[in-house]
Amino acid sequence: MPDRMTEVIEELAVANRILGNEGVIDAFGHVSIRHPGDPGRYLLSRSRSPLLVEPDDILEYTLDSAPVTPPAVSLYSERVIHGEIYKMRPDVTAVCHHHAPAIMPFAIAGKPIVPVFHVGGAIGPEVPFWDQHDEFGDTNLLVVKPEEGRSLARALGKNSVVLMRRHGATVVGAGLRELVSRCIYLCWNAEHQMRAAMIGAPQPLHPGEIPLAGAINVSTTAAARTWEYWSVRLKAAGFWPPHLSKKASRRAKPKARRGRTKRR
Ligand code: MN
Repeated sequence: MPDRMTEVIEELAVANRILGNEGVIDAFGHVSIRHPGDPGRYLLSRSRSPLLVEPDDILEYTLDSAPVTPPAVSLYSERVIHGEIYKMRPDVTAVCHHHAPAIMPFAIAGKPIVPVFHVGGAIGPEVPFWDQHDEFGDTNLLVVKPEEGRSLARALGKNSVVLMRRHGATVVGAGLRELVSRCIYLCWNAEHQMRAAMIGAPQPLHPGEIPLAGAINVSTTAAARTWEYWSVRLKAAGFWPPHLSKKASRRAKPKARRGRTKRR
């Protein structure tokens, strides 16, 4: 029977691939989860396109976004996004950063995304903006310095999504399934809002409807249903990830293995 750590790592690989397969992330973007046994660490792939991430690619980081074991592979340069949000938001256990085509017009034009249909309630009442140029002037727009990550985490505040001007979005969740669902329905909400604006003035959900509708699609029943749907689509596309190898599995639980061999 796979242990908890193996399960989490394999599920993180599936989450990466689902978000790739559903058009949220392309070659860039990344997805992480807080370490299930140590809130002071998180798990994130080596630098690789999410649709191709395998369990063996997943590495462990401190919240300062330093790899716990010196890596022989290249890392995502924007990993401070994850570490700085985990520091500032103890309630967050999963983070995704992406540049989905559906949200880019809003990030570029600076027009707020508002929940316009019931499933879009998952994005919450407010999606704030963050503009790297405001605080840091001319950069290549990548969020690579800890202070840039911290500034982004501050702009996110208590919300679930932050739009990054001329760059993309960062989405958080309490759990991987909630995160994946929120990322995908953020994109659908943006698509619907944009199309609705072409034929009229979109009427957002009423303020009181947002938490009610938002709670439904992160419920266990809805999350199980969406996760199964996206998983079957991923399998049908031929992108289901391999299992964690024995070697990587030993690496994933160093505390039990480190030191003198103990037989029982
Ligand atoms: Mn980016």
